[in-house]
Amino acid sequence: MEIIDNKGAPPELIRIANKAAAECKKVKRIIFDAFIDDLKGDLGAYDPVSETIIIDMGQCTIKQAWMKKGILFIPNVWFNLLFTFFHEMEHAFQLEEDPNLLDLEALPQQYEDEANITAENSLLAWAKDGAIPKLNEMGWVGNEIKRILNRLYAIEPDEVATELDVEGTEAVANALHASLVSNQYENKEEMAELFDSIDKGYVGVKVKGKRYFTAYDAINTTYEGH
Ligand SMILES: [Zn+2]
Repeated sequence: MEIIDNKGAPPELIRIANKAAAECKKVKRIIFDAFIDDLKGDLGAYDPVSETIIIDMGQCTIKQAWMKKGILFIPNVWFNLLFTFFHEMEHAFQLEEDPNLLDLEALPQQYEDEANITAENSLLAWAKDGAIPKLNEMGWVGNEIKRILNRLYAIEPDEVATELDVEGTEAVANALHASLVSNQYENKEEMAELFDSIDKGYVGVKVKGKRYFTAYDAINTTYEGH
C-alpha cells in the first residue's frame, strides 16, 4: 500500500488511513490532494480499477454539512476528512466482498447508503477516544484553516475567537447551538438537564466557562441513523 501525499496531509489522518487500509486487500494506494478538478467537488473517491482512494482535502475545508448540526468549523473540517476516508474505505471493502461490482457501471444506491452508515459508525468509534489535532499538527489542512479564519476574522471576530478558544480541547460544538438544532431535546427542561449534566462533568466539556459537546456527544446527538 502506498500513500501519495501531494500537499501535506495531517499526520494523524495518514496514521488512521494506514491502519484502516491494512485491513483491506483492495486498497493499493491512497492519494491526499486538494481541489482536484476530476472529482467535480466531491470530497473523495474510490477507483475500483486502480484500487485507489482519493481524498480532496480542499473540498473538506469547504463543505459545511456538520456545521448545520451546530459543529464548529475546525471540527467540521476534521469530520469531513475522516468521514470521507471511511466512506471510500467502505467501497474498497464492498469490492473485496463482491469483486463482481467491478462490472457495474455505477454503484447501486444501497452501496452508497451502506458506505455512509459505516462512515458514521467509524467516525463515532473514532470519537470515543480520538482527539482532533491542533492546527499546527494538520499540515496543509491546518494552514488552509488558518487562512480561512484570518479572512473571516474581519466579518465574524466572535466566531473566530470561539474557534481558537476551543482549538486543541475536546470541545467541538457549542452545546446550546447543537442542542437547538438537534431533535433530541424537546423542551426547556430537557435542555436544562443537559446543561446541568455538562456542569457536573457527566457529558460535554466546559472551556472558558462555556458549555460544549465533545466529538462523541456531538456526533451521537446529531446522529440520524438510529
Ligand atoms: Zn460513495
